[in-house]
Amino acid sequence: MNAEIIAVGSELLLGQITNTNARYISSQLAELGVNVYYHTVVGDNAERLKQAIELAESRADLIIFSGGLGPTKDDLTKETIAKHLGTELIMDQTAMLSIEAFFQRVNRPMTENNKKQALVLDGCKVLANHNGMAPGMFYSHDQHIYILLPGPPKEMEPMFQFEAKPLLASTLNHGEIIVSQVLRFYGIGEAELETQIMDLLETQTNPTIAPLASDGEVTLRVTAKTSSEEEAWRLIHETEQLLLSRVGDYLYGYNDESLASSTTKLLIEQGLTISVAESLTAGLFQSELAAIPGVSQTLVGGVVTYTADSKMNQLGVSKEIIEQYGVVSEECATAMATRVKTMFKTNIGVALTGVAGPGEHDHQPAGTVWIAIILPNDEVVTHELHLSDMRNTNRLRAVKRTFHYLIQ
Ligand code: ATP
Ligand code: MG
Repeated sequence: MNAEIIAVGSELLLGQITNTNARYISSQLAELGVNVYYHTVVGDNAERLKQAIELAESRADLIIFSGGLGPTKDDLTKETIAKHLGTELIMDQTAMLSIEAFFQRVNRPMTENNKKQALVLDGCKVLANHNGMAPGMFYSHDQHIYILLPGPPKEMEPMFQFEAKPLLASTLNHGEIIVSQVLRFYGIGEAELETQIMDLLETQTNPTIAPLASDGEVTLRVTAKTSSEEEAWRLIHETEQLLLSRVGDYLYGYNDESLASSTTKLLIEQGLTISVAESLTAGLFQSELAAIPGVSQTLVGGVVTYTADSKMNQLGVSKEIIEQYGVVSEECATAMATRVKTMFKTNIGVALTGVAGPGEHDHQPAGTVWIAIILPNDEVVTHELHLSDMRNTNRLRAVKRTFHYLIQ
């Protein structure tokens, strides 16, 4: 099966928003093994939308639409498809009830045009919208499958994942189910990781193993296709063991976990508190941690000391250290971490100091970073990094490396 995604919306063509829906849908389809051959973007115009549909029908089995399901006049996706296919639009009672309930909840009168949102293609499977009003549709007609999804990503993504994807999977697999698990690695490059598992990548067919690299991390998606969920997990765990016997040292988490969430989980499990003194990252380390629910059980606080003066005056790093070794040094990082650990009375103190770039600083090239971690027994662990001359990449990499050192 191959697919085309048609994103409908003049704001996409005007450059006001980015077509992130197509990216999301494509990545989801890849998981199902569906090849996406075309992304089309078309404005809120019935004639041009019709042409786009005809073109898509000539070259794709599955056509997925995003946008234009709302109540306003410019929302014309389902009207255009209905007319084109000669299908009626009928009122879906369940959708109507949930639209009425929505207006009751927000205590606003429902305008007439909102009823339009409950209209669906006659004979389609209705996809419930748990995050908005317009329902989606899954419609098979003449060798083609049409899936209609709302434009707002917070409505579209869950609808695709929980409503459309299972329907698509069962259509594709005639009762077979697909289960996949993502293994997340850090501290090893994509090429190196692939080399270590090349034979598996080349010979494995079920489960399949798909590598992906971004932001210094590498993931492997292991996907099994079988008749039962139990069997799928057995296959996945078998392949996982094989992979981990090669590159297990670099594994830090699974699926939606991140370095920040794995770090938080570990610190909470061990009952340890942490404080942070940041220079080049200026709060990024704490911000990444703060994105994780429950982090207050471990993150007590921290400081941003960006200048040499603030490192001395606010944090209490000694003048001698700064004059003798400079702010980008093992000694300064150690002093910062020691001071912050004392200030906040935590089990662990962390410090990051370095040259974000693009230029050099203190005769040190861009990308030079020192990380210090003071452990609960006051043992000091330091690391020196040599990153790039790209400022924000360096800042993010420094943060990720620190998480990784804490996990290890
Ligand atoms: P609504 O009921 O909100 O009108 P809709 O299904 O009619 O939803 P549109 O009116 O086309 O969808 O788009 C609504 C909003 O959804 C857009 O303003 C935009 O913020 C977002 N959106 C639409 N299409 C996309 C897309 N392809 N990628 C990312 N965001 C999108
Ligand atoms: Mg709309």
